[in-house]
Parts: sequence; structure tokens; C-alpha cells
Amino acid sequence: MSSSGGIQIPSRLPLLLTHEGVLLPGSTTRFSVDSARNMQLVKSRLLKGTSLKSTMIGVIPNTKDPEHDSDELPSLHSIGTAGLAVQVVGSNWPKPHYTLLITGLCRFRVSHLLRERPFPVAMVEQLDRLEQYTEGGQLDGELGELSQRFYQAAVQLVGMLDMSVPVVAKLRRLLDSLPRETLPDVLASMIRTSNLEKLQVLDAVDLEERFKKTLPMLTRQIEGLKLLQKTRKLRPDDDKRVLAMRKGGVFPGRQFSLEEDAEDEDGDDMAMLERKVKEAGMPEPALRVCLKELKRLKKMPQSMPEYALTRNYLELMVELPWSKSTTDCLDIRAARVLLDNDHYALEKLKRRVLEYLAVRQLKSALKGPILCFVGPPGVGKTSVGRSIARTLGREFHRIALGGVCDQSDIRGHRRTYVGSMPGRIINGLKMVGVNNPVFLLDEVDKLGKSLQGDPAAALLEVLDPEQNHSFTDHYLNVAFDLSQVLFIATANTTATIPPALLDRMEVLQVPGYTQEEKVEIAHRHLIPHQLEQHGLTPQQLQIPQDTTQEIISKYTREAGVRSLERKIGAICRAVAVKVAEGHKLSRTDSAGNALQEHFIREQEGKAEDSDMTAPPEMPIVIDQVALKDILGPQIFEMEVSERLTLPGVAIGLAWTPLGGEIMFVEASRMEGEGQLTLTGQLGDVMKESAHLAITWLRSNAKTYQLTNIAGCADPLEGNDIHLHFPAGAVTKDGPSAGVTIVTCLASLFSGRLVRSDVAMTGEITLRGLVLPVGGIKDKVLAAHRAGLKRIILPKRNEKDLEEIPSHIRAELDFVTASTLDEVLNAAFDGGFPAATVTHSQIASKL
Ligand code: ADP
Repeated sequence: MSSSGGIQIPSRLPLLLTHEGVLLPGSTTRFSVDSARNMQLVKSRLLKGTSLKSTMIGVIPNTKDPEHDSDELPSLHSIGTAGLAVQVVGSNWPKPHYTLLITGLCRFRVSHLLRERPFPVAMVEQLDRLEQYTEGGQLDGELGELSQRFYQAAVQLVGMLDMSVPVVAKLRRLLDSLPRETLPDVLASMIRTSNLEKLQVLDAVDLEERFKKTLPMLTRQIEGLKLLQKTRKLRPDDDKRVLAMRKGGVFPGRQFSLEEDAEDEDGDDMAMLERKVKEAGMPEPALRVCLKELKRLKKMPQSMPEYALTRNYLELMVELPWSKSTTDCLDIRAARVLLDNDHYALEKLKRRVLEYLAVRQLKSALKGPILCFVGPPGVGKTSVGRSIARTLGREFHRIALGGVCDQSDIRGHRRTYVGSMPGRIINGLKMVGVNNPVFLLDEVDKLGKSLQGDPAAALLEVLDPEQNHSFTDHYLNVAFDLSQVLFIATANTTATIPPALLDRMEVLQVPGYTQEEKVEIAHRHLIPHQLEQHGLTPQQLQIPQDTTQEIISKYTREAGVRSLERKIGAICRAVAVKVAEGHKLSRTDSAGNALQEHFIREQEGKAEDSDMTAPPEMPIVIDQVALKDILGPQIFEMEVSERLTLPGVAIGLAWTPLGGEIMFVEASRMEGEGQLTLTGQLGDVMKESAHLAITWLRSNAKTYQLTNIAGCADPLEGNDIHLHFPAGAVTKDGPSAGVTIVTCLASLFSGRLVRSDVAMTGEITLRGLVLPVGGIKDKVLAAHRAGLKRIILPKRNEKDLEEIPSHIRAELDFVTASTLDEVLNAAFDGGFPAATVTHSQIASKL
């Protein structure tokens, strides 16, 4: 650049008309060229040229007339910059064009045009003769002072720019070596100026004028930068390092202190973590591990993946409640009240829970058995667990174990695994934040097993009071004391709980509810709870007892109250919509459905003169009509009597993890080879029961006057028998269907109908004895729900009847039997065989 001082430009120059920028002497600018004239110039002068002269062109800004491509040559700006094309790059996309890199040398004035086509060429007069100023070395007089001010401003400005940009760094060095008179052009092309301003600089042929024009631009830029830095300072979380680098040239000391700040912060962070580790109240071994990890962490660069892992580990360790606990505030009398308030019925369970709590109160470090509530879904197992936590004033956490089949779910993954985490126990502790919560292990009967180890074994370690004071999660890798945690388990059945686990637990059966109990639970708990959840008040919605009964019998069939609660929820939702729309309620509402009409009926009935369009102040009462509108047609119907219209059908009682159920057994026979076919999802025990029943009937065929189709005394001779256990996909197993199969076959072989209101349960022996079975309460409740009246059950199960609420007992007729003889006698009207049965009677029944 400084060499341009001595340059002599040719008097004839080809002209490049640029519309997108102004080239100033001393700067290098990139121009894109695509007009026909300019393209021609590039092709014939620049691409062919070899000598310096031939690549020198005159660059004339054409900012006035952007229509550069028109055929007419636009009126030319009289002053331009002679420049050297230092680089020419051609491209065909998106249309043919060249990109020129041109370094400006000096100003020239166009004297006159020599030719216009194919590109303009003009006679020019060189304007800047730079050597004229530097002859005396320094500029003097006013010009000298001006140039000094300009120089100082330039130094200040460059100091404020980002020194990490190479050009800025270079400029900083050049600033001193450049002749002062070149500074206005160089800086004007560098700082933020408009094309118009650049044009003014170009036009300022007089040096003094040029200094005067550019100085304000320079100070403007300096002020702008100052403002920017000020706002950065106001935003403290702005990237301090970048700012420090930007400022580096001006305030080198500051840069250092900022970096120190960042390091300090890091150090602070570590110190904080260390303090937390020391304050977490960890036992000695855990503390040692943590301090070791912390030491490692300090040496690790943050970018290392292990840094995050170790840090996460330490953060979990400090968060764990090593020594944080709540104080138990157990008052047995208050606990009783609370349990009673929260739960209706469940007397036996509540009593046992109180005993358990009382013993805990007397002997705080109780290493007693773990309570396990076993019963169908929705009978309040979880809810009782939650109440226990409340009575003790402890935190409550539920751990769902259904489907868990990987032991690391319980015990965590080793830290070497990618994405390793602690198990659910440690996670639960972290969540509750104390080391003595109530943990509800939900659905322990649904633990799975897989290649990843047996979660039940891991759970054993958790539950065993001898071991759990030093439970070691794989992720933590140090022992955590679980002995203060109160574990409660729930299950639907004990059958699938791993025996070793079952051994550690005290099983408390929670059977299903009777219809009456459900009505009470609904009115005491479920309805108020649902109303609250839906933002309704009893003044807005009322569900009479009759309706509740209807919901229970026609829309649900369950031992617990979960679907009942859902149905009540559905009613609340429907009513909530009506209440919300209340003010729009009118007779003519096109969307008005039966519920609205029902509501209107209510209003008409109770308050003749009330305003129809006013928001409902009368409660919406759900009667049968409204119920049907909201819940749809009834789902369950009484089908019992219909199905017992032919011989060969009997009703048994089954127990499933979901509660008791009535179960139909159907039999038919046809000519054949004496084959027995069984269908309907059966287990092996059921098949054995069927064989047992047939053998016993065959051996007693004579006594009971049983025959085959042809009337022969052996019921199986020349006959095939088909036994079917309908109602579906549920696998039915267990010996308790023995008496039902016998009764069903006896009906088939004798051609007599079984009483349609009788249900039975009991295991049989080959000799015709009836053995006791389990789940009596559930089964009796199921029979009662289904509207049956007589229940035949094994004599030795008589004691179980005490569990059944007296009002239900009063409604049912219990027949206890110790032999099959007694069973058959009770199952058929008029005894079995009928005392005075005649063939014509049989025929008439058939
Ligand atoms: P489970 O754990 O046995 O499957 P939940 O404890 O989740 O059942 O109970 C389901 C719902 O029924 C809960 O809202 C609970 O409050 C309610 N519930 C169950 N039994 C009773 C009861 N005896 N008294 C009051 N509410 C009950």
C-alpha cells in the first residue's frame, strides 16, 4: 500500500462500473461482475493481460444508476479509483459471472470517454500523487494537527476491535508504518460506512477535506463500540471470555483478571461440592469413597466424558439422606381414628395394622415381618399403605414392581455401564429425602425373571432385616442402611410370590367388598373425592344410593371399587360440563341432551318459577335416566336363570386374583366311544377333577339312576362327553370345581335341571368326600353379586362363613356338605335321586 505512493497510472484506462460498492485507494475489495460490459472487460483485458499495466483498471462507482445492464452507458461518476485486479474467479452458476478482487491504488478523474463498446475506455488524469505530502516527512500546519488527531482516533478504534481477527492485528501493526495521508482512505473502507459516505470520501480529492470528512465517521464508530461494551457489562452472564479477548488490546490487565474469575468459579464449585460431601452425614466408608472421587474429579478436564459421570455420582451421593430422617409421631388412638376415617370396612386389616404399629411404638427398632396386603385390585391396599405413612408422620413412596425382571432395577447398574443409574430403592430414597420413609412395594407377585438376574433375590436382600442395614446398590458401590425404612408389600395373589420372599412377609388378605360395603365406600369416600377432583360441590351434584347400587350391579363387576370410582368420575365429568355451561342452559339449546332435559325436569319439578337460563342452583340429581345417558346401556346383565334351562349346566364358584367369580360348567353328550373332551382354558388340575368326577359318577350310576343316551346303566357306554368351562380367556384351575363338575354331569346323566339359584364349591375325592377349599369370602360375595341364593360349600369351610357380613349371610342359604351325596341333594329340587322320580317325570322335564 505504501508503495502506491510512487505509482504512475496509464492515461488510458478501461473502466469497470460497479454498482455494489466503492473502491477506495489503499483497500482491497471484492466485486461481483455480471453485466455484459464488465464481462467483456474482464475477458479481453484481465484474462488475457500479462503485464501490470494491462491488469490495471479504473473502477467507477455507479451507485446512481443500478440499471447497469441497459445498453446505454449511464452517466459516469467523474472520479474513480485506479486498481489492480489481484484475483479473478469465474463461475457459471447461477449465471455466468466473475468475482474480482481489486486493490485500489489512487484516485483519477475521467477526462473524456474514448469509446463505449464493448466496454468503456477513457482518458484519465491521476489525482493522488501521494509523494507530494511525504516529501517533507511529516505533514505540517493544520493538516499535521488534523492527521495527528485522526491517527489517535484510529489507534483508539483499532484497540477496541477484536484482536483475534488477523486483519485487525495486522492493522494495529501497520497503523504506525502507514503514511498518515493514506489513513482516511484505509480506515473509511474498514469501518462501518455507507456507500454514500464512501463516495464522499472518494470525492474528497483535497487531503484536508478528506481528513475532515472521515474523522466524524471514526468517532461515531468509537462511540458505538463504547456503547456496546457498556451493555455487555450490564449483562453479567454474557460470554466474559470473548469480551476479554476483544478488550485485550486496550486493557491487557483486565483480560487476565476475567480468566481468573472463571477459574475461581470452577474452584468455588468444587469447594461447594466438597463441603456438601462433608456435610452429607455419610458413614465413614462412603465419605472416603466420595473424597477419593472428588480428588479425581479435580484433576479431570471438564471435557472428559468421565467428568460428567463422576460428577453425577458425587451429586447423587450428597443428595442421599444418609442421616436425615423424620421423627415418628405415633399415637395409636389417633392412628385408629385416621385409619377409620380413611377407610370404610376392612376391619381385620385395620386391626392388624394397628397391632403392628402398637408394637413398633413399644419397641422402636422392630425387626418384625414385612406386611403384605394380598387382594384383588381396587380394594384399598395402596391406600392403606399411604394411611400408615400418614399415621406415622413418615414420607411415602410407591415402588411398582409389576413386570420388573432385571435385578439391576432393584440394585442399580454398575457405574462402568453407559447410562448406569441407581436402582429403584436408592432412587426412592433420593426422592423422599429421608432415610425412614414408608416404601410400598407394589405388586410383588408380578416380579419377572430373566437372564439379567432374579429381581426377587435382590429384593430379599432389601427386605431381610439381617442384611438390609448394609444394602449395596451397584451404582453407589457403598453400603446404605435401609433398616429404618418401613416396607409394605402388596400383591393380588400369593401363588406367584417367590416362596423365599413370601417367607419374609406376613400376608394379610384383603378380600373384595360386598355390594353394601361398596355403596358405603362410594358415599363416604369415592363420591366426595371425585367431586373435589372435578371442582364440584354436593350442591351441584347428588348421586342417590339407588343410583350407586345401580352402577355397582349394572356397570361394574369387580371385587374392589376401582371401576366404581371411574364410573363416578365419568358422571362428575359429564356434570362438570353442564355446570360450566350452566348459564347457557335453555330448552331450545340444540345440543341439549337428555341430561339437560333431565335437569330441566328437576328444575320444573322442584322450582316451578325458576329462571331457565339462570345457572343451576339446584343440584343435578343423577337418577336412572341420567345414569343411562351418561354411562350408556348397562354392561352386565343377570344371565344366570337363562343359562340354566337345560340339564347339564351348573354354577361353580371360582377364586381369581381379581376376586371371586361365578363360573358356569356345561356338559353335553353324543354317541361315541366313551371319550371325554374338555374345553375352555383349563389347567391340569381341572382335567383331573373332571376325570375324578366321571369315575365317581360311573361307579355310583346305579344308586343315582344315571344312564347313557340309550338308557344303559353305564353313562359312558357308547357316549362321548364334552365338558366346557365358558367365559373365556381366563385360565381356570384349581380343584374347587370338583363338586360343580359332578353336579353338572349328574344333571346331564339324569336329565334333571340343577336349581338355578344355587352355586357351589368344593374339592372331591374318588370316594365321594368333599374337601375344603380357599377364598370362601370372595366366592360367597361373587355369588351374592350374581343374585344367587343357595351356596353349597364343604363342611370344613363352615368357619370361614364368620367373615361374611351378617346381612349377607342372612340373605343366603348355606348348605355345608361333607359328601357328594349331600351336594347333589342340595343342588336339585326334591333331592337326588328324586325320592319319587318316575320316568315320565324325567321325560316331562326334558
Ligand atoms: P389397590 O392398591 O388395592 O389396588 P387402591 O388402594 O389403589 O387399591 O384403591 C383404589 C381406590 O379405592 C382408592 O381411591 C381408594 O381410596 C379407594 N378405596 C378402596 N378401598 C377403600 C375403603 N375401604 N375405603 C375408602 N376408600 C377405599
